Amino acid sequence: MDIRFAEVVKVLENVEATTQRTVMARLLAGLLRKTPPQVVDKVVYFLLGDLRPPWEGLELGVGEKLAIRAIARAYGVPASRVEDAYRRVGDLGEAARRAASEARKKGATGILSFVQAEARHLTMGRVYEVLYRVATASGEGAQDLKVSLLSSLFADASPEEAKYIARFVVGKMRIGIADMTLLDALSDAFNVDREALEKAYHVYPDIGRIARSIAESGEEGLKGISVTPGVPVQPMLAQRLSTASEILGKLDRKAWCEYKYDGERAQIHKVGDRVKVFSRRLEDITGAYPDVVSYVRDSLAADTAIVEGEIVAYDPSTGDFLPFQELMHRKRKHNVEEAMREYPVKLILFDMLYLDGRTLTDLPLLDRKAMLASVLNENDNVRHADWGIFVDEEKLDVFFYEALSEGCEGVICKSLAGGSVYEMGARGWLWIKYKRDYRSEMGDTVDLVVVGGFHGRGKRAGLYGAFLLAAYDPSTDSFYTVCKVGSGFTDEDLVRMYQMLEPLRIDHRHPRVVSKMEPHVWFVPELVIEVVGAEITLSPLHTCCMGSVKPGVGLAIRFPRFTGRYRTDKRPEQATTVGELLDMYARQKRVKAAE
Ligand code: ATP
Repeated sequence: MDIRFAEVVKVLENVEATTQRTVMARLLAGLLRKTPPQVVDKVVYFLLGDLRPPWEGLELGVGEKLAIRAIARAYGVPASRVEDAYRRVGDLGEAARRAASEARKKGATGILSFVQAEARHLTMGRVYEVLYRVATASGEGAQDLKVSLLSSLFADASPEEAKYIARFVVGKMRIGIADMTLLDALSDAFNVDREALEKAYHVYPDIGRIARSIAESGEEGLKGISVTPGVPVQPMLAQRLSTASEILGKLDRKAWCEYKYDGERAQIHKVGDRVKVFSRRLEDITGAYPDVVSYVRDSLAADTAIVEGEIVAYDPSTGDFLPFQELMHRKRKHNVEEAMREYPVKLILFDMLYLDGRTLTDLPLLDRKAMLASVLNENDNVRHADWGIFVDEEKLDVFFYEALSEGCEGVICKSLAGGSVYEMGARGWLWIKYKRDYRSEMGDTVDLVVVGGFHGRGKRAGLYGAFLLAAYDPSTDSFYTVCKVGSGFTDEDLVRMYQMLEPLRIDHRHPRVVSKMEPHVWFVPELVIEVVGAEITLSPLHTCCMGSVKPGVGLAIRFPRFTGRYRTDKRPEQATTVGELLDMYARQKRVKAAE
C-alpha cells in the first residue's frame, strides 16, 4: 500500500500557492486522510523536509554541487546549464523542474513514451527509500553512489516531482509547514483530540511516529508513548516577571531560586556509556561537545539518565563565565578539538527527568533535585546550579544581584509546591525568570521571527535595510507582526541576514503570517532574532494582539533594535508569543501607573 508521489506533490503545490492557513491545514489533512497508514510517516517526514525526526541527526549529506551533478546526469545536460539556471532563479527546485521539462520535450513522444512514463510512476515509498539510501551511503565511493541514486530518482520524476525532490535534497523546501501545523492536520484527518496529540508530541517529538500510531490505531495509538532515554522531550519553559514581590506572590511566598546561566540549554541523555546532548530546539549537538560527554560519563553515577542543564563558556585564566555569544563562536568552528581548547565550557545542571528505569517528570521539584544530588559527583567541570530558598523579597533581590555580578542573566525562581512537576513543552508559572535588561525600558528582550524584508538604500543597497518581525500565537499556529526593525545591524549582520533569508524568500505572504504591512519581500517564517525596544505601544499597523486592548489596534515595539543575537537555537514556534507581549504591555502599564 502506497501513495503516488504525484499526489503529495500536487498538495505541496497547492499549499505553496495559498496565503490562508486554514486552506493549508485542510489540504494537508486531506492528503493524510488518503495516505495508507504504512506510509503516513514517510509523507509526514517529507512534508517537514526530513527523513527522520531532526533529533536523530540523519542528514542527506548532499550539497548543492552534488545535487546539480545528479540533475545534470538525469536529464543529459551539462552541470553548468543547471547551475546557471539555479543562479538565475535562486531555487534549485525550479532549475530541476525546467531541466526535467526540457528533457521530456526533447525525448520520445507518442504512446510508447507515455506508457513508459506511466509504468515508472513514483510512489512516496520509493522516493523515501531512495532518499534514505542516499542518506545512509557512507565510506569510499559514497559520493558517487549518492549521485547515481539521486539521478535515477530524478530520471523517473515528472518535472513537478523533480522540483520538490531537488528542494528536499538541498534542505530548502520553502513551504513552512511546521510540526504544529501537522499536528492540526493530523487531528483533523484522524479525528484525534488535538491536546492529546500535543501531549504525546511533548514526550516523544517524532511526528512521523505519532502519525503512524494514530493512522493505525486512532487515539489508542498514543498510549504507548512515554519518556524514552535517547529521545529528547520538549523542554519546560519559564514565565517572566520583573520584581521579587510579584514572583513570591505567584509562588506561595516561598521559592527555590537559581542563577540563570547565560549559555546553551542542554538536555543530556545517558544510556550506559553512550551520551547524547540535545539543544533547546532538540537537535543532536553531541558532536560539538565531546568535553561535555566525558564530563557526564565521569560525574553521573547512573546507568540510564536524562538530566538538564546549561553549558556555559568560561575564561580559564579567571574562571569567570562568558556570555552565550562565546559559545556560538565555538560552535561555528569546524575543528572541534581546537574549539574545545579555545572555548572551554562547564556544565551546570538543574534538573533530572529520568533515572535508571524511572520517569521523574511527575515528581515535585525537590524530589527531582534529590534524585539528581544522589548520583551527581560534583567537580570542577560539572556542578549543580547555585541556589537558595527565599521567602523574603529583599533577600531574593540580593541573590539576584549576586547572580548578575557572577555574569549570569538573572535568576529563575521555581515552585516548591507538591504539584511542581516537570511540565514538558509548557511555559507555565512553576518556573519564573527574573532578568533585568538595563539597556531598555522594555524590561526584557524578545525573540521574533523575520517574516518580511525591505530593500536597503544607499550603503545598504542590494541588501535588506529593514525587516518585518512577528510574534507567535500557538492557538492559531500563526505569526503576527509587531515591528519593523532596521537598527542594531552591523554591515556584517546585513550580509549575514541576506544570506540566511535567501532560501526562505517566497513570492507572497506566507499562509501562517498575519500582516497589514506589505514588505518588499516575504519569507517563510523560520529565522528568529533577538530584539529589544524602548517600550510596547498600541499601533494600528501591526496585527499582534489586534483588538485585545482596544478595537482596531494591535501591539508594536517602539524603537526596536537588533541585539546581535541570532536565536538559531530556537524554532520559530519557540519565539516570543503574542500572549507574552500582551503580558509585557500590561506590566509596563502597571509600572507606569505606579510611578
Ligand atoms: P525560553 O524561556 O523560551 O527557554 P529564552 O532563551 O528566551 O527561552 P531565557 O530568558 O533565556 O529564555 O530563559 C530560559 C532559559 O534559561 C532556559 O531555556 C535555560 O536555557 C536557561 N537557564 C539558565 N539557568 C537556568 C536554570 N537554573 N534553570 C532553568 N533554566 C535555566
